[in-house]
Amino acid sequence: MQADPSSANTEEPPAAAPFRSLKTFHSAGRGFWHDVSERDWNDWRWQMKHRITTAEQLQRLMPTLAPEEFAGAKLANHKLALGITPYFFNLIDPSDEHCPIRQQVVPRIEETHTASWEMSDPCGEDSHSPVTGLVHRYPDRVLFLVTDRCASYCRYCTRSRLVSNASGYDFHPEYDKQIAYIAAHPEIRDVLLSGGDPLLLSDEKLENLLSRLRAIPHVEFLRIGTRIPIFLPQRITPELCAMLKKFHPLFISVHTNHPRELTTEVRDALGRLADAGIPLGNQSVLLKHVNDDADVMKALMQKLLMCRVKPYYLYQCDLIAGSAHLRASVAKGLEIMEKLRGHTTGYAVPTYVIDAPGGGGKVPINPEYVLCRNAGRVLIRNFEGKIFEYPESADGRPCGQPPKEISEPELV
Ligand code: SF4
Repeated sequence: MQADPSSANTEEPPAAAPFRSLKTFHSAGRGFWHDVSERDWNDWRWQMKHRITTAEQLQRLMPTLAPEEFAGAKLANHKLALGITPYFFNLIDPSDEHCPIRQQVVPRIEETHTASWEMSDPCGEDSHSPVTGLVHRYPDRVLFLVTDRCASYCRYCTRSRLVSNASGYDFHPEYDKQIAYIAAHPEIRDVLLSGGDPLLLSDEKLENLLSRLRAIPHVEFLRIGTRIPIFLPQRITPELCAMLKKFHPLFISVHTNHPRELTTEVRDALGRLADAGIPLGNQSVLLKHVNDDADVMKALMQKLLMCRVKPYYLYQCDLIAGSAHLRASVAKGLEIMEKLRGHTTGYAVPTYVIDAPGGGGKVPINPEYVLCRNAGRVLIRNFEGKIFEYPESADGRPCGQPPKEISEPELV
């Protein structure tokens, strides 16, 4: 009997349903704060005021807190403060100790263990800082640190020496000096505002800062690095978007690590930024138990595109002190990249980088696609493992035989 072709297509492969569910948008809901008024809940200042900041609060809201987490939370205020917005807290699955949201913001005692190769300033920012709050590491761009505060604190933060001011770094940016340095260096054409999170500044303060930077003729391009749309989507108000759009070209890089962070609230906040004409990119950090899985990473990248965000970088976790329990291996990162490239839209494939320890800057790392290159030919491998020859002479002009796919025996 002939199979019914219409029924053949309706059966989903077993792996497809979990993958599809990773890409579904849900609301974070109100959770413990169900009796808070709509107005308060949607007010970003209310969210900031009601953050979870102590071990006791965390334990009360999450009785499943592990002893390692309680101990970590107790010590957090001497290293990197504990801070979680109520909105983001509601994304945690309290029944899952390995919940990917929980891993990112709930401290663990392992944060106090420092391996000999870990550092407090793994990217060497302090040694490339001509004035307080400014990092000038690359020829034509600077990192402008605006504040040391964030809406929530990521346990693997590469700048944890500085953010939250828990370890006594005592960070005080000096905007006048930072701006004067940029104005005096005509080679700086790109300024990235970061921190801490620049979108925690009031609209007025941020507008003043952006106006002063825009007034410098050689600054062509402004960027903001922020995790606010993810931790605190309520902050992305129409007023903020209307103010930001006055400073084009202005790009925003957000930071997400798991598809569950992309809720309906986040999607709408990102939509408001995109509607203001702001090109959006995403930076993720490869983290153990969070996104060290090809399906999770692919779902995240595809879901970002659905939110009008281009996946930009995937970072190998920096060698920040106390992060070993969260660090996935480079081998795992390469394996994931191999499963993205060619297997999904090119727009969904980020550049995987290691920020070279000590201040060497970002170095892209990739699975090996060029198998051999000499004066007469380049041998390349595609995403299916097929091998091809691209003939070219030393001066780059095609030569020899027409391009062809070749089989393994011919390789020797
Ligand atoms: S939002 Fe950024 S700066 Fe703030 S704690 Fe997280 S990684 Fe660090």
